[in-house]
Amino acid sequence: MAEQKVLKIGVIAGDGIGPEIVREARKVLDCTARKCGFDIEYTDLLMGGASIDVYGIPLTDETIEKAKESGAVLMGSIGGDAATSPWYKLPPEKRPEAGLLKIRKSLGLYANLRPAYLYPELAASCPLASQDGGRSFDLIIVRELTGGLYFGARHTEVVDGLRTATDTMTYNEAEIRRIARTAFETARKRRGHVTSVDKANVLDTSRLWRAVVEETAQEYPDVTLSHMLVDNCAMQLVKNPEQFDVIVTENMFGDILSDEASMITGSIGMLSSASLNETSFGLYEPSHGSAPDIAGKDLANPIATILSAAMMLRYSFNLEEAADCIEEAVRRTLQNGYRTKDLIPAEAGDLKCCSCSEMGSVICGYI
Ligand code: NAD
Repeated sequence: MAEQKVLKIGVIAGDGIGPEIVREARKVLDCTARKCGFDIEYTDLLMGGASIDVYGIPLTDETIEKAKESGAVLMGSIGGDAATSPWYKLPPEKRPEAGLLKIRKSLGLYANLRPAYLYPELAASCPLASQDGGRSFDLIIVRELTGGLYFGARHTEVVDGLRTATDTMTYNEAEIRRIARTAFETARKRRGHVTSVDKANVLDTSRLWRAVVEETAQEYPDVTLSHMLVDNCAMQLVKNPEQFDVIVTENMFGDILSDEASMITGSIGMLSSASLNETSFGLYEPSHGSAPDIAGKDLANPIATILSAAMMLRYSFNLEEAADCIEEAVRRTLQNGYRTKDLIPAEAGDLKCCSCSEMGSVICGYI
C-alpha cells in the first residue's frame, strides 16, 4: 500500500483565545486528514506571553529552529491586555509582540496574504451594507512584511533641546520585485487584477516601488495592473471594495489597509492570513489578536484560524482539494445558520448560537 503523506506542522497556540481557536483548527485538520488521506505530525511551539512565562523571552532560537523543521506553522494569537498583563512591564524587545517580528524576520516571511471576503450569509454584519444594499466583495491584500518603516533604523535623541525621534523607511528593488511577483502570481489564480498602492506623490520609496512593480508587470501580460495612492485606497475600500482583486503594498500601508479591509467584512473572527517565504514554508494565523476579554470562556470564533489552516494546506502543502473541503464546510456551516456570538446581529432570526468548541465540531461534521 502506498504510504500516506505526512504533514509536519509546528503549532503556536499562543496567548488569550489562542489555545481555544487552535484546538478547533486542529480538530478540523484531523477530520480533513482522515477524509483526504494524509497524516499530520504536530510540534507544539512556545511564542509570545506563553514563552515569556517559561523562558523570559517571547521567542527562543531553539523554537525558531524547531519551526524551520516543520513544513508550516499554524498560530493562534499572542499578547495580553496591555493595561493589566505583567508582560507589558518588560522592555519592548521582550514583550509578546517582539516574538512576532522576530519569527517573521528569522523565517524570511516577506509576504503577508490577507483575504477579505464577505460571505453572503454575513452581509448584514458589513458596516457598509446600508449605503448600497447587498454587497459582495472578495479581495486579498498582499503586504510586504519584512522591510520598510517597521524594520528601518530608528532612534530618539535631543536636538536643540527638543526630544526628536526618527524612523527610516528603506526598500531595495529586490524586496519590491519579489512581493510584486507574489501579487501577480496570486492574481493569476484569481480574477487577474493587481492594484499597487503607494504614496508616489511624496515618498522616494514609493516612486521606486511603482517603477519596479511596472517592470515586474511585464512578466505577467495576462494580469492587469493599476496604481493607487494609499490615501485614496483607504477611501475606495470603504466606498467601493468590489473594485479590488489583489492589492499589493508595503509594510506599514498594508498593516493599516488590511485592518480596514477586515473591518468592512464586519467580522474580525472570520479573517485568515498567511505569511510566506521564498520556499513553500508559511506561518498561518487569524488576522485578529488574542482577545483577552473573552479568553477561556469558549466564546471565541475559531473560523479565522480554521480558514488559516485551509490556506496552509493550499499554499504550503499543495493540497488544494483538502483546502477546498474546509472552505466548503465553513460555507455550509454558515448557510445552516451556525454562528458564534460575535456573528450574531441584534435580529438573530433562526441563527444557532454556538460556542468555540461547538463551532469546530459543526465544521468537522461538514468535512
Ligand atoms: P483583538 O483582535 O484581540 O480584539 C479586538 C476585539 O475583537 C475584542 O473585543 C475581541 O473580543 C474581539 N475578537 C477578536 N478575535 C475574536 C474572535 N476570534 N472571536 C470573537 N471575538 C473576537 O485586538 P486587541 O484587543 O487590540 O488586542 C489584544 C491582544 O492581541 C494585544 O496584546 C495585541 O497586541 C494582540 N494582537 C496579536 C496579534 C497576533 O497575534 N498576530 C494581532 C493583533 C493583536
